[in-house]
Amino acid sequence: MTILVCGGAGYIGSHIVASLIERHEELVVLDSMVAGREKAVLGGKLYHGDLNDRELLNGIFNDNNIEAVIHLAASSLVGESMTNPLKYYRNNVEGTLRLLEVMREHDVDQIVFSSTAAVYGDPERIPIREDDRKMPRNTYGETKLAVERMLHWAELAHGIKHVILRYFNVAGAHDNGLIGENHDPETHLIPLAIQAALGQRENISIYGDDYPTRDGSCIRDYIHVMDVADAHLLALNHLRCGGKSGVYNLGSGEDFTVKEVIEAVRKVSGKPVPERIAPRRPGDPAVLIASPDLIMAELKWRPKRSNLERMVASAWDWHRAHPQGFV
Ligand code: UDP
Repeated sequence: MTILVCGGAGYIGSHIVASLIERHEELVVLDSMVAGREKAVLGGKLYHGDLNDRELLNGIFNDNNIEAVIHLAASSLVGESMTNPLKYYRNNVEGTLRLLEVMREHDVDQIVFSSTAAVYGDPERIPIREDDRKMPRNTYGETKLAVERMLHWAELAHGIKHVILRYFNVAGAHDNGLIGENHDPETHLIPLAIQAALGQRENISIYGDDYPTRDGSCIRDYIHVMDVADAHLLALNHLRCGGKSGVYNLGSGEDFTVKEVIEAVRKVSGKPVPERIAPRRPGDPAVLIASPDLIMAELKWRPKRSNLERMVASAWDWHRAHPQGFV
């Protein structure tokens, strides 16, 4: 039996693929290669294409004995989602709709879906629990929430079981040194601060230092990408064993400010990381911290590597070895 990983050539998807390979799972990858990189896919057959291509999807399900789908394929730039919202509905909502239709036609009834903390918008309390108010402040989060709802109804009517994982701030790289974070454009704090440490950019901007937090900069919950990969494998096994559908926060519950993250990059790299205070980034909540209690209780997941210095060190090692990313 084979696992289909949609979006398996991207940052998080490629780390999940690496974990599946380590567990000797059969897998195939579908990726549009808009954000994915061929070199990041360490095994399994790679199909290059789009979720909205029904013929391609049917071919993949006809040619492989697909048991379950891990679905990370999505457009995920928050800023772009506000200027081009319809693209996000097409890629994230319509693409998943197509995937579910084809899964149904082929009697595949298990899916692990990547969602996001952005479904909550401005949290009503900290730490955030799964049942808290969902009021996305951007189209990206809105489209992920729309898919969550679609999965709910698809289960009721068609019996498609799901595990939804709402990612907080994913960071770090695989210990094998072969894969890591490589976005273009890069918008995330840790890789940008590392670029500053490598002298590839002049400085790192701190988006706001007047938030009501311990040092005035935003607080986020950072989680190691391999802890994220572990959660996907547990979710898969949960579904395989007949476990019930569930929605889980995927964060470490550990909180760090932007300034603390930048300081960790200085410490790990031993390099100066010049910083500048910039205006707040529109749409950024001051504090986002997960309660990971539910996934710990129900899937027995534990964050093993989500210590700030360890995350930054693994990211630093990868970026230093691949200063141009995957080339
Ligand atoms: N951030 C920052 N400077 C940057 C990029 C990000 O100060 O150049 C801040 C951002 O405002 C947020 C945190 O770092 O509070 C994490 O941002 P990132 O884009 O990495 O992830 P997000 O929280 O948006 O998913």
